[in-house]
Amino acid sequence: MPEMDGVEVLNQLGMQGCKARIAISSGVGSRIMAAAHISAYEHGLDIAGLLSKPIRLETLREFLYCDPSLHPSIPDVKPAEELGNAPITSSDIRKAIQSEHFRLDYQPKVNCVSRRVTGFEALIRWDCPIKGLIMPDRFIQLSEELGLIGLITDQVVDNALNWHQSMAEIDKLSISINLSANSLQDLDLANWLEKMCDQAGIKKELVVLEITETAALGDQLLALDIFTRLRMKGFGVWIDDFGVGNSSLRVLARLPFSGIKLDKSFAMTATTSQESRIIIKSTVELSHSLGLLVIAEGVEDRETLDFLQEIGCDHAQGYYISRPMSGSTAADWMGGYHDRLDMAVSG
Ligand code: C2E
Ligand code: CA
Ligand code: CA
Repeated sequence: MPEMDGVEVLNQLGMQGCKARIAISSGVGSRIMAAAHISAYEHGLDIAGLLSKPIRLETLREFLYCDPSLHPSIPDVKPAEELGNAPITSSDIRKAIQSEHFRLDYQPKVNCVSRRVTGFEALIRWDCPIKGLIMPDRFIQLSEELGLIGLITDQVVDNALNWHQSMAEIDKLSISINLSANSLQDLDLANWLEKMCDQAGIKKELVVLEITETAALGDQLLALDIFTRLRMKGFGVWIDDFGVGNSSLRVLARLPFSGIKLDKSFAMTATTSQESRIIIKSTVELSHSLGLLVIAEGVEDRETLDFLQEIGCDHAQGYYISRPMSGSTAADWMGGYHDRLDMAVSG
């Protein structure tokens, strides 16, 4: 690389939409490598892992043959390739709402000790007949800006609650729903959600609302009222992407959250970055002292799940357990996953 440094190469690959799996190798030290990893991830690159120089042959061999996508217990339900990057217009989104082209995938979360499934998070996808599969990062923010997110949230809540009703052992499974900042402007949110739960016949205690820190920072007084109402009615309210916003601690102290969801960038780098491990451990301690539960997302390997168990983290979510799946696949997957777990415990 005579003309560009490694970081610039990663930026260029990100801009060109490179889909190859990439290994980052350098002799600069683990902290800088971990930073490069996070930056590459944020550019949308698929990073297979980090290799510190000098590279030993055994390490390289282990690295090449430990591809988690080859791990038999991980169902490989990667989303179909997105078709092109044509711009999305407000009329596209309106049509999608009318024609109900949005659907939900579900990703399980597990208890770090028992490893059993404690709930699922609903994640929206847009099956556009013209543009193909479109992931939420491409349309949620735009829908918020266009004032269309409320209509999308209505469909998400309706679908997620109905799906939850169709699952076995529902009394033990929570359902997590992502709410956008705009929902926190609506003082009637708690009443509306309560009505939706009553109609679907689901206990409010099983419904978890995930709200990002940045969203909660908007109009704090209004958010405080809305959160308090939601919590009084029994809903769980979790702060999403914790640790990447700008005044996390103030938000934690002020708003009545039931738990925090540590941003996936920490668990994803836990095996390679001591700093990430320290942040995870300290956040777990801080949250427990405040009486909050903690979930780590972005768990991509067994080593990270074992680490989370060791430091007392409550829940984990990530590709190592399962990628997000369609509603019917999720139901089958859970049966098989618990059978394998019981077999591992008994013998
Ligand atoms: P999020 O709420 O932080 O959701 C987690 C994202 O991380 C999901 O991306 C999930 O597929 C991905 N993920 C889960 N485990 C792993 C892992 O181990 N490794 C890696 N690299 N990624 C993992 P997705 O589905 O593309 O969703 C992106 C974001 O879109 C969500 O981030 C959420 O903020 C937003 N979103 C999704 N569904 C909805 C919705 O119904 N309403 C609203 N308002 N926002 C939504
Ligand atoms: Ca979320
Ligand atoms: Ca998150």
